[in-house]
Amino acid sequence: MVSRVIPVETFDLVIFGGTGDLARRKILPGLFRRFRAGQMPPGSRIIGAARSEMDDDGYRQMIREAIAEFGGEEKKDSDGIESFVAQLRYVAIDATGEGGWAQLSKLMRGDVVRAFYFSVAPSLFGALAERLHAHGIADSESRIVVEKPFGRDLATARALNATLAEHFDEQQIYRIDHYLGKETVQNLMAVRFGNVLFEPLWNSHYIDHIQITVAETVGVTGRGAYYDKSGAMRDMVQNHLMQLLCLIAMEPPSTYDADTVRDEKLKVIRALQPVEPHHIVRGQYDASAQGPSYREDAENPRSFTESFLAMKCHIANWRWATVPFYLRTGKRLKARSSEIAVVFKDLGHTIFEGDTARHRNILSIRLQPNEGMDLQVTIKEPGPGGMRLVDVPLDMSFAEALGPDQEAPDAYERLIMDVIRGNQTLFMRGDEVEAAWAWTDPIIEGWEARNDVPKLYDAGSAGPEDAMMLLHREGRRWRDIKG
Ligand code: NAP
Repeated sequence: MVSRVIPVETFDLVIFGGTGDLARRKILPGLFRRFRAGQMPPGSRIIGAARSEMDDDGYRQMIREAIAEFGGEEKKDSDGIESFVAQLRYVAIDATGEGGWAQLSKLMRGDVVRAFYFSVAPSLFGALAERLHAHGIADSESRIVVEKPFGRDLATARALNATLAEHFDEQQIYRIDHYLGKETVQNLMAVRFGNVLFEPLWNSHYIDHIQITVAETVGVTGRGAYYDKSGAMRDMVQNHLMQLLCLIAMEPPSTYDADTVRDEKLKVIRALQPVEPHHIVRGQYDASAQGPSYREDAENPRSFTESFLAMKCHIANWRWATVPFYLRTGKRLKARSSEIAVVFKDLGHTIFEGDTARHRNILSIRLQPNEGMDLQVTIKEPGPGGMRLVDVPLDMSFAEALGPDQEAPDAYERLIMDVIRGNQTLFMRGDEVEAAWAWTDPIIEGWEARNDVPKLYDAGSAGPEDAMMLLHREGRRWRDIKG
């Protein structure tokens, strides 16, 4: 099957923080892949903007090097790289000063899509928004893209939303959660709402529980100072795991339209129950042969910040009453693996001999590695020897099913193209972010009030023993964390 690329309109994309880590590691290499896929119309331009003094050629060289360092196979396409960097410009600009703004204003064109990626610290969002307007660079059609962290609690998220709202309508604001740009996440919606098979079973009558795991092998080396003020709850659960939970649990939207989908997600967050303290396990990785302890990495010998979280959540509505949602995320775990597992109930009665509890349908949605889905079904073990049952995965991995030509864009590429198209479906709305913080804040405040001390766990393990017990004591078990 040949990949189908939907063209976008000609655009000017300004990347504030265009010399930063995110721009060099993800945004520009991703845009190069879209360029190679024929999705960047001729005449479109990417304008890097940061304080460092450099000219267009200096920036082009920086991006050549970034593609060489962070790109995939496509980095061998030297002709392609040259054509791509020819579309780059650079403006030295200070978000908090006046230098560079007149130059940027002169560079922008009126007859193309204008998008502004705020790939800078959130403390600069207000200054950028204000100057974009003061210099007449942004208008009511322009789009802005903002990155996590979107606040560190409800109060700061509200303040950020209010700052952006002074200059931009909600329809112009694209809050990125790159988990939503993953192929599998969108495929989850296709599987749920594009098939007759799943939706009738998608409720507490047929589903025993749901597990969402985002496991990493890396520690916090290099970003310990930032992470130590954040922890797994703020860094992963409030945004990424919450978004996955919403897509799994939401009611079918009446259309696949940005606000209709986001309305349904918001209802899920609002229906989340407060979490009982004994339904949460916080962990911190210990020193091991694989590396230093969390506290050494974070350079904070008295840190109580969690690098691991496991929790049991409930959604108080008719569809999900009684169905536990188990969330788990952590660093320095045994494998890099993200999975949503929908575990269906046991058969009420079996006509076969043997242990029926073993034979359960499980829909596994893998976000990494090997994005894809499989459905565990029970069949007869092939061959003679009577009626023995065995579980086999029905593989729905689209990479293989669609063939080698179908190279899926990565999350950043897809999301940036959605910004240019003006499609907000896969971006978080301001009220969603605030609702997520409203649920998260009391949990964090509870830990702080109790001086909660995280449990130590071995690097390379599946987290603290207590996290296992969270499920074991209910006769369930976590899915293995497999790379
Ligand atoms: P970074 O490497 O520190 O880059 C910051 C960028 O902002 C640089 O280009 C810097 O260039 C520019 N900058 C700083 N102060 C400025 C000012 N006053 N005016 C104009 N430009 C200014 O940070 P990053 O890792 O790329 O992260 C950028 C944002 O994305 C942050 O909010 C971060 O939390 C978020 N994020 C990053 C990642 C990631 O993987 N890196 C992932 C998710 C979210 P100059 O110093 O030359 O001005």
